[in-house]
Formats: sequence, C-alpha cells, structure tokens
Amino acid sequence: MRHRLLVPGAVALSLLLAIPASAAGFTPGAPGVGDSYYPESGNGGYDVSHYDLRLKYQPKTDLLEGTATLLATTTQDLSRFNLDFGLKVSEIRINGKKASFATSGKHELEVTPATPLEKGKQISVVVRYAGKPSELKIDNFSAWARTPDGAVIAQEPDAAVWWFPSNDHPTDKATYDISVAVPDGTQALSNGVLASQSSKLGWTRYNWRSDKPQATYLTTLAVGKFDITTDKTANGLPVINAVSKDLGANAGSARASIERTTEATEWLESVFGPYPFNAVGGYVPNVPAHYALETQTRPFYGEKAFDRGTNVSVVVHELAHQWYGDSVSLKDWKDIWINEGFAAYSQWLWSEKEGEGTAQQLADYVYAQHPADDPFWKVKPGNPGAENQFDDAVYDRGALALQALRNKIGDKAFFALLKSWPTEHRYGNASVADFVKFAEKKSGKKLAGFFDTWLFKPSKPAVGAGTSAFGTGRTPVAAPKSWKQIAATHNVHRH
Ligand SMILES: [Zn+2]
Repeated sequence: MRHRLLVPGAVALSLLLAIPASAAGFTPGAPGVGDSYYPESGNGGYDVSHYDLRLKYQPKTDLLEGTATLLATTTQDLSRFNLDFGLKVSEIRINGKKASFATSGKHELEVTPATPLEKGKQISVVVRYAGKPSELKIDNFSAWARTPDGAVIAQEPDAAVWWFPSNDHPTDKATYDISVAVPDGTQALSNGVLASQSSKLGWTRYNWRSDKPQATYLTTLAVGKFDITTDKTANGLPVINAVSKDLGANAGSARASIERTTEATEWLESVFGPYPFNAVGGYVPNVPAHYALETQTRPFYGEKAFDRGTNVSVVVHELAHQWYGDSVSLKDWKDIWINEGFAAYSQWLWSEKEGEGTAQQLADYVYAQHPADDPFWKVKPGNPGAENQFDDAVYDRGALALQALRNKIGDKAFFALLKSWPTEHRYGNASVADFVKFAEKKSGKKLAGFFDTWLFKPSKPAVGAGTSAFGTGRTPVAAPKSWKQIAATHNVHRH
C-alpha cells in the first residue's frame, strides 16, 4: 500500500520542481574525497586549478572579509557540489550567476547552481564572506591564532576552513593569488612571491602569488609586524624571511636559524634535486607554539621552537618537506610517512654532514632506545591511524626505515632514489605503496617484505632484519650530538 502511494507522489514532486529532462543523471558531488582518516575532507565532482583570494583583515577586531574566486573543472554531471568552509557566506555565484547554498556537517557548504553543471566544463565560483576566524571552533579547536599584532594560520591537516572556501584535501592542489589588505604599518605574509604592494586610505594591500600546485593546508597567512629580509639564492630564487618584531628573548635564535634557509636549501638540492617552487624562506610570528609546519615556500616556525637556542635542524626538516610533502603530496592522510619519514631522515643526513652524528649512529640510537615492549613499536609508520598520525614513531621509526633501506640497497641506489622520487612525482600525489613499487623498480630488488617489516608490523624489527644491523638491541648506545635538536622537532605538527 505504501509503495503504491509513493510512486505517484514522486512523480508529482518532480513535476513541481520542473527538473529539465537534460538534468537526468546530474547528481550531487560527494561531501568528501573518501580519505581513510578524514572522510569529510575535500569534496567530489570537481577539481580546482586556481584560487584567487581577495581579503581584508582588521587585527583589532579579528574581522576577516573576503571574496574568493575558484577556477575549477567539473569531473561529473553535477546537480550541486560542496565546498569546505566555516565562515559566514553572504553570496555565491557560479559562472557569474547567483547560486543557492546551505551549510551541513562540521565544515560543509552545499552549493546549488542555478542550472546543473555538465561534466568536463570549466567553472568559476565566487564566494563572498566575512567572519571572525578565531570564533570558529571545530571539535573545540581553532586553527586560527590571534597574536598581539595580528593573526596566523598554519595547521595540519586542517587550516583552510578558517579563512577560505576550498576543496580541502591534498589531492586537489592549485595555484594561488592571495591579496590581503591590512592596516598601514602592519604586514601580511603568505606563500610564494610578493607580486606587488600598495597603500590607500590607511590600508596596505599585499599581493602574493604561488605559481605551482599547492595543497590547501600548505597555504598560509600571517598578519603582524615583522622584520623582513629579502635576498636571492645563487640560482636567483627569491628568499623572504620574516621574524616578528615582538619575539623577545627568542628573536636572535629564531633569526639565526631561519637565516640558514638559503644554505639548507642549497644542500637539500644536492640531495633531492632542483628546488620545486618560485620562492623560499620562513617566518616566525609571535605565537607561543613549539611546532613548525612546511607551509609551501615559506615554512612557519612557532617561536618556542627556538627556546633552547638556534635549531637549524628544524629548518632543514621543513625545507625537506618542500620536496617530500609539498611538491610530492600524499594521496591519503594514511600515507603520512612519505612526508615525515623523509623530512625526519633529512635531519639525520644534515647531522651526518655537520659531523654531529651519522645517520647510522642515529639509527643505532633510536633502535636501542626503544625495547621490544615499548609502545613505540606498536605504531606503524606506513599507516599509523589518525590518532597517531604525528606520533614520534612516524618520525623516528619512519627515518629508521630509510636507514634500513639505505643499508639494504646501498648508498648509490639509495641516494639515486632520494633524488628521482621528487623529480618523477613533481607536483603530484603518491602513496606509501607507490614508493615501495618505485624503490623496487629503481633498485631492482624485491622490497615488499622488507617494507612490511619496517613500516607495517606493530613490532620491533629483529636485529639484522632486511640485512641492516642496528646495534645489538641490548647494549646502550650514546645519543649523537644532534639528537636533542632532532627530538625537539618532534613537536612539529602537534597542537
Ligand atoms: Zn614534518
């Protein structure tokens, strides 16, 4: 009985809505890309190629006003699609025409165009919005940090929803033009190069440009009063470093660390190949954070990262990510090892180069430091789980796996691999499984079992596993000189 009644009802409803025959088969884009750890992150049905953000920010009130223009291509016939965003939206236009919208979930914005969108078409999406980002809490957390003279956004894995609408997943990278007006006397820093700057009626506008694919979480903004140094590397790459004028006791150690950026980049090029982006640098705002983040072309460093003096090791870590994590991004957040394992290992290589302990000595130390029953070995760097995504083991065990690989395939093949991976996957996305296949192909060795032991088993690999030997597992091994600085980087992505 109920079924019979439903059929005519549905017919009547579709007549009322006057859906054109051509709209048949047009469906909503998925509310997430299906990430293993963060199913709501990103959206389905379109691919963004460019973000143009025109913003105005008043530090006194934390009011951010913006117009975002997204250029995208539809990847299915769309009746509607989602953006990830948390601030209040006043208007959305698609291809110039007003669209309707509604919010749902933790950060979903459901956008319905006036007419359905065919697959394979280029579209423009204009979103006007305003709000106080620090008041936006998701799971009781705000990634937006206000400072005495401005604000900073630099977080992983979620940051974009606090300041611009996006397809918020590393699998959809895009180029950016970020234009920010702030009160005269205040600066706005972002990724890439400063294309221009102008002042009018008490406001200064900074126009930043990133011309290579960039993930949403690697897109950063810092508003405040900074001491800025600009220069060029020997290769002509623009260098922009910024340290808050308000750092107090850590100002010297912060500046002494990030001013090593050019040197560290040059050295990393010798290990990983040509630098992939249009600018380099780093910034230290006055947020009392210990962590740092590899925001593209311009890593963020919390000022507390320099509490114990200079730390060039953390600078090397964040710059290494420009190749491993930023240029070659993960496919799914479970693949975090292809970012952190290599960034951590770059610190071991830097230590080796600086004569502060070889990578082998660091490996011996890490291996000996954790007895077999230590929960450290329960974390699988190859798929640590969302709750352990930034656990020490992802870094230390992750780097240990690379030293084991180096021992297994030899220095020549290993260093060729470190260079060819970022070259052959430049600006793309890759998984741990992709790396395993790549390493097998490049080395001509079967490595699936080896990687399974080092990355996917919740137990301490046996001494000599995969032909590598790390101490005896019993005798204490002294900490290499570099260890304290390397360990200090372990706060890297934690809030
Ligand atoms: Zn890292």
